[in-house]
Amino acid sequence: GGSGATQSHLQRARMRLSLQEHLWEFYQNNVNIPTEEQAVARRAALDICAELRVFLHAKLPDMPLREMYLSGSLYDDLQVVTADHAQLMVPLILEKNLWSSIPGEDTIMNVPGFWLVRRENLEYFPRSSSYWDRCMVGGYLSPKSVLEVFDKLVAGSINWPAIGSVLDYIIRPVVPSETLTLEVQYETDRKLNVDFLPLLVMEDGTSLIAKPHRLAAERHGNLWRQSFRVAETARLRALDQEDGGCRCACLKLTKAVCKINPALNRLNASQLTNAILLLCAKEGDWTQEALADRFLQLLRALVGHLESGRLLCALSPKVNLFCELTEQEVDELGYTLYCALSDPEELLRT
Ligand code: GDP
Repeated sequence: GGSGATQSHLQRARMRLSLQEHLWEFYQNNVNIPTEEQAVARRAALDICAELRVFLHAKLPDMPLREMYLSGSLYDDLQVVTADHAQLMVPLILEKNLWSSIPGEDTIMNVPGFWLVRRENLEYFPRSSSYWDRCMVGGYLSPKSVLEVFDKLVAGSINWPAIGSVLDYIIRPVVPSETLTLEVQYETDRKLNVDFLPLLVMEDGTSLIAKPHRLAAERHGNLWRQSFRVAETARLRALDQEDGGCRCACLKLTKAVCKINPALNRLNASQLTNAILLLCAKEGDWTQEALADRFLQLLRALVGHLESGRLLCALSPKVNLFCELTEQEVDELGYTLYCALSDPEELLRT
């Protein structure tokens, strides 16, 4: 019938599109989130943030915190596919003379990119001199213990159903969750996950977040994770601004590809951002016309990094951004991407 003919016609027309055109089409239709959707999600996150501020100020006025703020790809126009998550950053204030940070490579665990935060001067400033001493484990500030403090408060003593009904959302803490997450349903079919992310900004500007190491959680329980997100995102954006380039578009495309293909879920924004930054050092042409070439080159580069089991952080080359993947995961990711090289269009199938 007519519709069959139209379909095969459409199919042929589709096949004529080059990868370049397919990528931009996919970008418009599947990757980019409509402005309105982003705005509604941001508003929901902001409402929650405001409630939490009020609650914490009232309930725990002496907890040494800087103002909480929202962050993440939803705020950098780097979120893809659906506006469904944000981070609520909770900066703790530490007394300079009471706490010091030790890089992971100088510890027995030898993990660059992670840090210990050690309590100092206990003999002159005994336990309880610092508010955060309550989260001290074996002489170190424990991110897990910090998260538990907030977990008790946020999941245990805030009346979320009541707040939700005032704001017209359904809010519930996600259990179990590795960090602390609130799920906010702000429309019948729209949900937003807000991660609570305690943060330390050390004297030299190093940002440490309370997000546990994925592997050997017991052994690595006291480690704080260094965050490069602000700097790496800013660098990518600056490079694009200099030459009107397509690096951020390429990042969003690849993020979307990893989000919709279950076999690639393990690759995260930071790994992809750094793989692009490393590519930028070798490759100068990031014009919009070069998107397909750069996209393929990025896939090849990732296969190479996976083969070697190492992806070095562009901002701190001693950090291996694959260090939290198991050997098997590395192999599977490498295999999936390697196969995709011969048929990259397959990655765009939704
Ligand atoms: P996306 O979640 O893939 O869209 O990527 P984002 O760029 O929003 O990164 C969010 C992820 O990075 C979360 O898993 C965070 O735990 C982690 N992360 C590490 N450092 C930071 C930081 O400084 N800010 C935020 N918002 N997230 C960070």
